[in-house]
Amino acid sequence: MQTDSSTDFLIIGAGFSGLVVAQRLAAAGWKCVIVDRRDHLGGNAYDRVDAAGVLIHPYGPHYFRSNSQRIVDYLSAFTEWHHVSYTIKSHTRGRYWSFPINLNTFEEYLGREASTAEFSTWLEKTRIPISEPKNSEEMIISQVGRDLYELFFEGYTLKQWKRHPRELDASVCGRIPIRINRDDRYLSETFQALPKHGYSAMFENILNASPGVELHLGVDFKEARARWSHRHLIFSGAIDEFYDRCFGALPYRSLRFEPESFSAAQLHTRQAISGKPGFWQPAMQVNYPSPDVPFTRIVEIKHATGQQIDSSTIVREYPKDWTPDDEPFYPVPNAESREAYQRYEKLTQQESRVSFIGRLATYRYYNMDQVTGMAIAEADKLISKYGTQS
Ligand code: UDP
Repeated sequence: MQTDSSTDFLIIGAGFSGLVVAQRLAAAGWKCVIVDRRDHLGGNAYDRVDAAGVLIHPYGPHYFRSNSQRIVDYLSAFTEWHHVSYTIKSHTRGRYWSFPINLNTFEEYLGREASTAEFSTWLEKTRIPISEPKNSEEMIISQVGRDLYELFFEGYTLKQWKRHPRELDASVCGRIPIRINRDDRYLSETFQALPKHGYSAMFENILNASPGVELHLGVDFKEARARWSHRHLIFSGAIDEFYDRCFGALPYRSLRFEPESFSAAQLHTRQAISGKPGFWQPAMQVNYPSPDVPFTRIVEIKHATGQQIDSSTIVREYPKDWTPDDEPFYPVPNAESREAYQRYEKLTQQESRVSFIGRLATYRYYNMDQVTGMAIAEADKLISKYGTQS
């Protein structure tokens, strides 16, 4: 093993947070080594072209969105954008529903036309008044009542988290907007777009723009620590792993992805369902809240990427318990797991030469723009601590 190399910053994880912090530090003149144990850049946001020629998100859909012009401007130096109005559907009781809940959903529920005023009056009568929802169940029933909650949220959340919505922070189901007009967009942020040539191309551009950054794939953090002496370590992996799970494993949810590709001829027979040629389903994502279906959603990302190709690929997502052989996709947002995390967080506060950034190292259910912002802020902090190198 090589032991004689040195770098200023050793960065563990080549996902959003690791790449962004590396780019900022390299721009300040610092030498960075970035490692990832996987064989590709981009962490879970990595995308690739599959055997059918379709650009897919193999680790689940990554819909970039942000309300921060500063973050959009930052990333725009490395990519052009393909603007998308992300729309999804829910499938339950044998039919597709407009989702997130909006006036169209209400009409589907009633089986007739309705107005915003009628929906609003109905909600006033149906919702359960709770001034400060304490958990995800209260969050949804306080907005739409029990029936719509049971139809769209209860079963999905039980499958996704293996916990009842009552056992999860209000912010989990609170991520999903509820609207009384016909705005059926999945997300509400002002900027909604995918990197025009994909995430992986954007990550390559970040790296190519940063000559002071050396990338080593297929290297895990224990090996990296032994190989490169460093001034400061930046860790973006799972926090409990950093500390050898000394307080036990933190709870995570994992996923199994099952891709399936279809030729143009096969898709032809689906056209009555998808509504357009070349697609398998009517939206980029269809959620399956019913407990009778083992997966939570089917993603056909071609709807969002705008790729012009006759074939298409769908990916079914099956939630699963996390084991040390799985990727830890989601920290579990509730009081119990936060308490477990806080024992590790206390240890991090004693570190003066290690930074912890990203979803896994800070145990937060963060979106990509938030992670980008966190990495920029950490780089600024490190630059004010260590200065710049000319
Ligand atoms: N959710 C739900 N039904 C849906 C969609 C979402 O109950 O049809 C709940 C579920 O608990 C999920 C959370 O809302 O984990 C957040 O959903 P989002 O689509 O933002 O999840 P992500 O894309 O981050 O997995």
